[in-house]
Amino acid sequence: MCISMRQDDGLRKKFRSLFLLGKKPVIHESKVNRNANFVVLANEYEFHLHQIVVMNKKVCIVGAGPGGLACAMLLAKAGLQVTILERLPGVGGRTSSYRSDGFTFDVGPTFFLYPSVLREIFAACGFDLDREVSFMKLDPQYELIFGGGGRLAASPDFNRMEEAIRRLSPPDVQGFRRFYEDNRRKLTGFAPFLSSPFLGWSDLLRKDMLKLLPLLRPWRSVHSDMSRYFEDPRLRLAFSFQSKYLGMSPFRCPSLFSILSFLEYEYGVFHPIGGCGAVTATMAQIATKLGVDIRTNEGVEELAFAGNKCEGVYTNERFYECDALVINADFARAMHRLVPEKLRGRWSNRKLAKARYSCSTFMMYLGIRGRYDDIAHHSVYISGNYEENLLDIERRHTLSKDPSFYVQNACVTDGTLAPEGMSTVYALFPVSHQHENIDWEREKGGFRQLALQQLAKAGFKNLESRIVYEKIVTPREWDTQFELHLGSTFSLAHSLSQMLHLRPRNRFEDLESVYLVGGGTHPGSGLPVIFESSRISSRLLLQDLGMSPEFIHPKVDTLPMIAEVA
Ligand SMILES: Cc1cc2nc3c(=O)[nH]c(=O)nc-3n(C[C@H](O)[C@H](O)[C@H](O)COP(=O)(O)OP(=O)(O)OC[C@H]3O[C@@H](n4cnc5c(N)ncnc54)[C@H](O)[C@@H]3O)c2cc1C
Repeated sequence: MCISMRQDDGLRKKFRSLFLLGKKPVIHESKVNRNANFVVLANEYEFHLHQIVVMNKKVCIVGAGPGGLACAMLLAKAGLQVTILERLPGVGGRTSSYRSDGFTFDVGPTFFLYPSVLREIFAACGFDLDREVSFMKLDPQYELIFGGGGRLAASPDFNRMEEAIRRLSPPDVQGFRRFYEDNRRKLTGFAPFLSSPFLGWSDLLRKDMLKLLPLLRPWRSVHSDMSRYFEDPRLRLAFSFQSKYLGMSPFRCPSLFSILSFLEYEYGVFHPIGGCGAVTATMAQIATKLGVDIRTNEGVEELAFAGNKCEGVYTNERFYECDALVINADFARAMHRLVPEKLRGRWSNRKLAKARYSCSTFMMYLGIRGRYDDIAHHSVYISGNYEENLLDIERRHTLSKDPSFYVQNACVTDGTLAPEGMSTVYALFPVSHQHENIDWEREKGGFRQLALQQLAKAGFKNLESRIVYEKIVTPREWDTQFELHLGSTFSLAHSLSQMLHLRPRNRFEDLESVYLVGGGTHPGSGLPVIFESSRISSRLLLQDLGMSPEFIHPKVDTLPMIAEVA
């Protein structure tokens, strides 16, 4: 065996300790391949020493949510030794499946929007998303039921959507066209910023960013922005309620987020067969193929610091040394539990207490006899007094009498989720995050009855008599079982004061060698942007280790399936 390398004691030592083949390498000075820093020839194989050193770098990821899994895939593909530590028995976090009595439910996400980002991540890792997961584009993508009267079957087919709008409010057809054109420009202009890190004011004050301001109109809310296009108040809601995907009121959510409804109409709403949990399960399989060590039932209990540099993590089982740490766990909870306040500069306990958090949700996962064949896959009921309903949630922290809700009747398109002759009903009621005004122990039973009454408004008549399986999750369980600060299901709110560089940063500003990924960092909550956060954080981490992150944006070509990769 023959090894050529430049005179460099540090590297040589590192290399010696690294070179594990059990055969004593002979080290020759210099004479190296000009294109590589160092070249190692060992048993006819040629390695770039740089790669070997890098392969020995260890990264720990706290949490196997979609953000953590996507990061693991990219970092392992780059050649790092990656370990994911997950406190729950399974992977996927809020984007996991939950199975009981033959029924399969998504725990959280059911709308899969804009798969392109994940498609590119799969491609960067050598896989083809569309060959691994079957996606169905839904049409109608959802049915909107207005508490004040009227319905709208939202379609990604432009002509069909125009017709549906004409039936509700003929003059608004023109507005729909303007909405479409303006938001296409908005998304095109803003997309590069969503995929860039925001590490300080200078990123915000970039000339190209400032040029976008008239288009983004950040001083307006999504709802007031929609009043520029639509006269009918129902249509204003139809194109602004999507801010609830971020857990925010459309009356307060910055107008930039009108791109959410545009994304639905332009690219569609997808249902992955088997549910969104099937996507994270596939990601975990791929990560494992790429060499990631996924350790479930191993919660991280403490971080080991030298100064403010994280050097490892303690789980309930053992210590893991690392060169870099990625935190995918809920941001505020992770700060309180894992990072001593004296090491935190910007994100002190005081700042965390003053931060604004998203709403929470009251969930019903029901297995029922038979199926409601005439009800759409997704339905959204918007309360007759939506503004009051939102004030109850965000300001008054009380329970509404006519709460809005979202309900999924997935078995009309996906028979894999329930036993023969049965189906699943998933109902989500946005409610206040944990607050002293609401004692869920006391309120749970009453709110369940109200929820069943409300569901009848979406066509689920006699639902209670058909229930064979039932599970309820309140903000209390989101807090205690899913470890979300205040049970806020959509992380930190997306107010202007908590966005871009003002959100906890991807290269975490308070600590060294620590990166954040998931809904609590830039760009924000929701699967497409969470996947974007994994690309941003992976790129920063690789750059900091002196590695090239270029592969993260590859060309998509025909790629092998997991089964075809040895
Ligand atoms: C009810 C609901 C509905 C939603 N619907 C949609 C939707 O339709 N479409 C959409 O795009 N988004 C939706 N979202 C928002 C968002 O996409 C998901 O919540 C997403 O799963 C968040 O991903 P994440 O990577 O930030 O973290 P998470 O999914 O929360 O994963 C974090 C992981 O970290 C683990 N963890 C925490 N602490 C520790 C520790 N100390 N040690 C080890 N592991 C730890 C957790 O167990 C968890 O597995 C929804 C969310 C909820 C709750």
